[in-house]
Amino acid sequence: MKRAEQVTFGGSGLDRAAHIRGDAKMLAKVKSGGAAKCHLIWRGKVLVQGEGLDSLASVPMHHDIITEGPGGAVEQPVFLGLGDQDVPHFAMDISGWDAEGLDISGVGAFVDGSEQQHPDLPTGHVFAELRRIMTRLSPRDAELAASAKAVVGWHETHRFCARCGAGSEISQGGWQRSCPACGAQHFPRTDPVVIMLITHGNSVLMGRSPGWPEGMYSLLAGFVEPGETLEAAVRREVMEEAGVPVGAVQYLASQPWPFPASLMMGCSGQALSRDIQIDPVEIEDAIWVTRTEMMQAYAGEHPKLLPARKGAIAHFLLQNWLSDTLD
Ligand SMILES: [Zn+2]
Repeated sequence: MKRAEQVTFGGSGLDRAAHIRGDAKMLAKVKSGGAAKCHLIWRGKVLVQGEGLDSLASVPMHHDIITEGPGGAVEQPVFLGLGDQDVPHFAMDISGWDAEGLDISGVGAFVDGSEQQHPDLPTGHVFAELRRIMTRLSPRDAELAASAKAVVGWHETHRFCARCGAGSEISQGGWQRSCPACGAQHFPRTDPVVIMLITHGNSVLMGRSPGWPEGMYSLLAGFVEPGETLEAAVRREVMEEAGVPVGAVQYLASQPWPFPASLMMGCSGQALSRDIQIDPVEIEDAIWVTRTEMMQAYAGEHPKLLPARKGAIAHFLLQNWLSDTLD
């Protein structure tokens, strides 16, 4: 798909400079150079600034919040790579900050519209939920934010060696955890998920999960299982959830989706039947939506159907289906 990398989080060509990760001297040098920027994560939220919160914020590496701050999931800043003019970018987690006096009841909710201002950071630098502001960021900021959130989230849930249970230690600039007891090495995980545009003639198959806002339907999706190809995962998930047999499957585009650690693999598939039989444990409903109806939904003119969330690959794939630009 020619437009594949135009999806939100489609990447900006960040130089991840992996050769620096294992070179302690070099890593210390880029860290201590005055130009280095550190992006902050707090309980999965990213530090942003600007009117409309459209820019990823950072602090210099010598800022108190990093050197003496509350701490969090990572023992030291994670090296994300080299940006424009070779400016080094790092990520640090400060989830230990308890945001005293601020309302944090919405943090971690499906839609978290709250913002938190840390007292030691400039006014207007706030922590916001990435899904809420993702479409406002530049491709570079989006790649940095997704990488920072995903890798910090991995550290948070992988503090102990999966082989022997001992506490593990951050290494390789944050791209590995090593076990001092048994020597095992652990690497940040990315979980593949297939999300599929299943069509039959001029209609697309849409499903909804329980608890979604009324009228909201999206493309079917599911985790790829060990030992499975993407094509097999597409056919299995559609059969399990909607009872629809699928023939030819084609890969279209991918999207890093750090909520918490998925890689969405967008595929198209041709349905061999229109009969739907849903599994009520997996989904609440599945329907065929015609191109005309979907166009109405995208224009906000459909009486019932809401379009998929902007920024999500489902929205992107459907939009390209509507404009006939899937190839
Ligand atoms: Zn171990």
